[in-house]
Amino acid sequence: MRLSKLFATIGLTATFAISSIIGLPYSKKVKAQQPASRPFGYILKSAIWNTNSIPVCWENPSNNFSAEMIWVRDAVANSWGAIPNSRVQFINWNQCSSNSSGIRIQINDEGPHTKGLGFKLNGVSNGMVLNFTFQNWSPACQTTRERCIKLIAIHEFGHALSFAHEQNRIDTPVTQPNSTKKFCTEERQGSDGDVTIGAWDLNSVMNYCNPQWNGNGRLSDVDIQTFNSVYGPAPNPFVQNSIQESSFSGPLVEGMIVQLQTLGDINGLRWLDGRTGDGTVGLVSSENRGFSGTKWRVHKLNNSDIALECLGEINGARWLDGRTGDGTVGLAPKGDGSFSGAVWRVHRINKSDIRLESLGTIEGPRWLDGRTADGTVGLVSSENRGFSGTKWRISIN
Ligand SMILES: [Zn+2]
Repeated sequence: MRLSKLFATIGLTATFAISSIIGLPYSKKVKAQQPASRPFGYILKSAIWNTNSIPVCWENPSNNFSAEMIWVRDAVANSWGAIPNSRVQFINWNQCSSNSSGIRIQINDEGPHTKGLGFKLNGVSNGMVLNFTFQNWSPACQTTRERCIKLIAIHEFGHALSFAHEQNRIDTPVTQPNSTKKFCTEERQGSDGDVTIGAWDLNSVMNYCNPQWNGNGRLSDVDIQTFNSVYGPAPNPFVQNSIQESSFSGPLVEGMIVQLQTLGDINGLRWLDGRTGDGTVGLVSSENRGFSGTKWRVHKLNNSDIALECLGEINGARWLDGRTGDGTVGLAPKGDGSFSGAVWRVHRINKSDIRLESLGTIEGPRWLDGRTADGTVGLVSSENRGFSGTKWRISIN
């Protein structure tokens, strides 16, 4: 089997595509871009682990595979785990229980893959599948099982650390400079990242076009720099989105200016941001919660219902509007009740946390839901109002 072909079948990650959350039209200019020279590969920043100890367990460990399980653990320890000054470590490596968190590995004779990137694997049953026997899949590995098992483990643990396939990058060179010769035409596969800064990296263990299969198990310089950018000794530039304490308790009163963070349990963007320039609503990070669009003025419509006026500094529609007809959320031009979706019933969870129900007159989903994984905001149905993203914490600006 051609090695590249073998490689091409290795990393079937989850099929959901994560749209870019970079470059959304914010209500205020983004402060400063990351320096262009910053060495990133291709990662999904919203899926970076917000813990220094990532548990690993085996769904179906077997004495028959005791050597193979050690090969996997050693391969990970000698690659990602050997990066100096790393803040993260993979721990446990015992048998999974029904509620084990972290990375749950199933041993099975099929194409190795992960069911998502990074933190999205947390607690997911059979979240990573590794092949130890190669009877059905890639029989060429039968004569080099230890090598195959180790190289594949390094690649799949790259996904578990939030690395996407390098050849999925939009700047992947299909042909070489000044040539029409095909260069990297391996298919885009699996989830995309959302940060591509720094040069495209042919030598990444995450690149199907790497002439060395899985980089021969050797992390490239950019792999290591990318890892260090998020898991290295310096503060993680992206994981500053843990849920913050509230500075608020007590009733929402007319004219109060508040900020709202979703309590979604996936690490990611949290702060409700109205983009008055184009009438959209999304989530931004803690460090960007200074944006004018994250500030909302409360207007009391009656005892239990409010309208929320976005204070984005660009002129435009600015009233938080839940469109129950299609489950989207945007900004409406008026908040006086003439747009029914811009009337919100406040359901109090405790002194600082609420749920917001759109009173849109069209039947449909109506509970305001922040999706921290991809930074979007929408409406969910009553049955799904238990989602953690429907809980919103109020802070006084
Ligand atoms: Zn892969």
